[in-house]
Amino acid sequence: MKTSKRIIIVGGVAGGASCAARCRRLDENATIIVIDRGPYVSFANCGLPYYVGDVIKDERKLLVANAALFRERFNIEVRTQNEVTAIDRTSREIEVKELETGRVYREPYDALVLAPGAAAARPPLPGIDLPGIFVLRTIPDSRSIREWIAEKNAKRAIIIGAGFIGLEMAENLVRRGLGVTIVEMLDQVMPPLDPEMAAPVRQHLEKNGVRVALANGVAGFESGPDGAIVVKTQSSAKHAGDIVILAIGVRPETGLAKTAGLHIGERGGIRVDNQMRTNDPHIWAVGDAIEIHDTITGQPTVIPLAGPANRQGRVAADAINGRPAKFRGIQGTAVCGVFGLTVASTGASEKGLRRAAITDFEEIYLHPGHHVSYFPGAKPINIKLIFRKSDGRVLGAQAIGEAGVERRIDIIATAIQFGGTVFDLEECELCYAPQFGGAKDPVNYAGMIGASPAGRPPACRLGCARHRWCRDRGRARRR
Ligand code: FAD
Repeated sequence: MKTSKRIIIVGGVAGGASCAARCRRLDENATIIVIDRGPYVSFANCGLPYYVGDVIKDERKLLVANAALFRERFNIEVRTQNEVTAIDRTSREIEVKELETGRVYREPYDALVLAPGAAAARPPLPGIDLPGIFVLRTIPDSRSIREWIAEKNAKRAIIIGAGFIGLEMAENLVRRGLGVTIVEMLDQVMPPLDPEMAAPVRQHLEKNGVRVALANGVAGFESGPDGAIVVKTQSSAKHAGDIVILAIGVRPETGLAKTAGLHIGERGGIRVDNQMRTNDPHIWAVGDAIEIHDTITGQPTVIPLAGPANRQGRVAADAINGRPAKFRGIQGTAVCGVFGLTVASTGASEKGLRRAAITDFEEIYLHPGHHVSYFPGAKPINIKLIFRKSDGRVLGAQAIGEAGVERRIDIIATAIQFGGTVFDLEECELCYAPQFGGAKDPVNYAGMIGASPAGRPPACRLGCARHRWCRDRGRARRR
């Protein structure tokens, strides 16, 4: 009799949970076990800032699925509060510690999937362990932050780091009535954006009462009067708060993989192929713990986002079940809401291209309304589109505005995935009614402007044989 395959998944949130569910869909006989050292699986980390801010009032809403649902709906065994401590690749077994009892046991596998995520960075600065300094990664973290605010009647918060989580926390702490200061090492907020696109975001934060201290790396922390925590910066500035949130990025969880001799890449993530397989043919890895190639630059990168983690989990499940699915790489499509402003980006930024020594690109800016100007309530969207100069291929986009931003970035993100050019954006047929857009959508405008660069010889015709630009444009028109 054929024995069922044993699939063990370490980590049961975005990457791990979607891998487990997909494995079940592909093989109803497999034994599937998800092991997580935390108290919950499949929880919404993306909702945590909003739980701190009381937008999500009931903590239970953060639990997308639990062990009982996995068992009843998918026949998947979930073991929370169990930490995988070692991988024995020779015998194909893992060592697991049951955290409540301390019992250590072994579990054999045919396929092992590592989805351990990333840890919030906590640099070894003086005073880093003072009470009142928090990171936000898990439900217990968010609970601790809420409890501290209530117990200490906190009035002032210092947020270290002006990335997505830092800005979401700023908005939510202001919502809770705290005065917020953001301290950021770089000279801009929102590091994935180019500085000129990030500048209005900073102004918007300040307009909403947030103090922003840029180009101010943190040097350490000390206790201040009345239980305050004082953040000292490298420029000798001091910011006092009743609570400090560290939001300075994450570090892939690679401890298990490293000790097991799995390859770690140059960016510090577990190295995998396009089927999420590590250098061990029986071990896969997905999510924030891995590094993967950037679709635009081709270089390895670590981008912690929920969408890619979910898709990677599915690709790993397909590969385990002998299907040919491949992960296409990552382009970092992301969105953030801050005080009514939407900030979104996809693909390469100008500074990212320069860092990768890519010079064949051009950038354009436009500021169309999110819908036609004659219909009440039109809001401008500031868009930056980056495309390859030689053939018009779209490489990246950033957009900021109060409405319609994420829709435009999603269209451009899709175009990038399909190898689209500015000519394709120009020709894109998109839905239109006055309250939603324009007969020429902002995406069409971006394509039109990109397709008519000032530098193109004015006498040139579409499809002229001399310039690659004109040839491609003619081809795109004929398609
Ligand atoms: P995780 O979700 O981190 O899960 C890893 C799990 O593995 C954890 O539960 C951990 O306990 C467990 N684990 C680790 N080591 C072991 C071990 N040795 N044994 C057993 N279990 C182990 N992304 C977006 O795209 N959009 C957003 O709006 C967004 N907002 C976010 C807001 C916050 C506050 C945070 C923290 C993240 C946000 N993200 C967002 C990022 C997104 O949540 C992550 O990219 C995604 O959760 C990564 O999934 P993962 O499965 O790789 O790891």
